[in-house]
Amino acid sequence: MHRIEIEAEINLMNENRRYARENRKILRENGAVAVNIMGAIGSGKTLLIEKTVEMLGDVKIGVILGDVVCSADYSRISKYDVCARAINTGKECHLDAHLIHETLKMMSGLDLILIENVGNLVCPVDFDLGENFRVVIVSVTEGDDVVEKHPEIFRLADVIIINKIGLAEYVDADVDKMERDARKLNEKAKIIKMDLKLNAGLGEWIEFLRGVLDVSRNSGRSCRT
Ligand code: MG
Ligand code: ZN
Repeated sequence: MHRIEIEAEINLMNENRRYARENRKILRENGAVAVNIMGAIGSGKTLLIEKTVEMLGDVKIGVILGDVVCSADYSRISKYDVCARAINTGKECHLDAHLIHETLKMMSGLDLILIENVGNLVCPVDFDLGENFRVVIVSVTEGDDVVEKHPEIFRLADVIIINKIGLAEYVDADVDKMERDARKLNEKAKIIKMDLKLNAGLGEWIEFLRGVLDVSRNSGRSCRT
């Protein structure tokens, strides 16, 4: 890379960090928890959001849907009683903190913000959105070597979801190998084996979300007193 390209890249990343900090501040002030959901196209990101919205009827949820073009996911989510916003990134294959910043300004009074990132396992990892938690969802149909092929995104995840486990035997995928690979890369992440179509593993995911929502509500209360 030429020096001028390197400088442009550094500026871009610094700007992203600055907006990410701002986003974290906005979320803290509003007592909201934001979850950045990353995964390939077809891994189950939108379905995970749909099921989450269905199961957390008592939580005020906002959904931000990132896509290169098109609003198919937005149409799916706007059927529910949630605050949904779509972001079309144009050519970019990831969301960035500035896009999230502009969107957060249009949302208020929420407990939980679910962000569906653009579908790929590579560049979303470089862009901190100011989220509180990072979730990576992969499906066994992507091949059981998908985890070891994308180490960085798994290394930085708080939750790793292995989806479509009901299909594992049909596509010759070794779910335990995927879990071992994930654990090797990330000692601390919560790993959930899931099948969204069969409603398997959803309880564990909802329990995780309820846990982080409780923590943030409690800390919100203690700040005000
Ligand atoms: Mg989707
Ligand atoms: Zn990208």
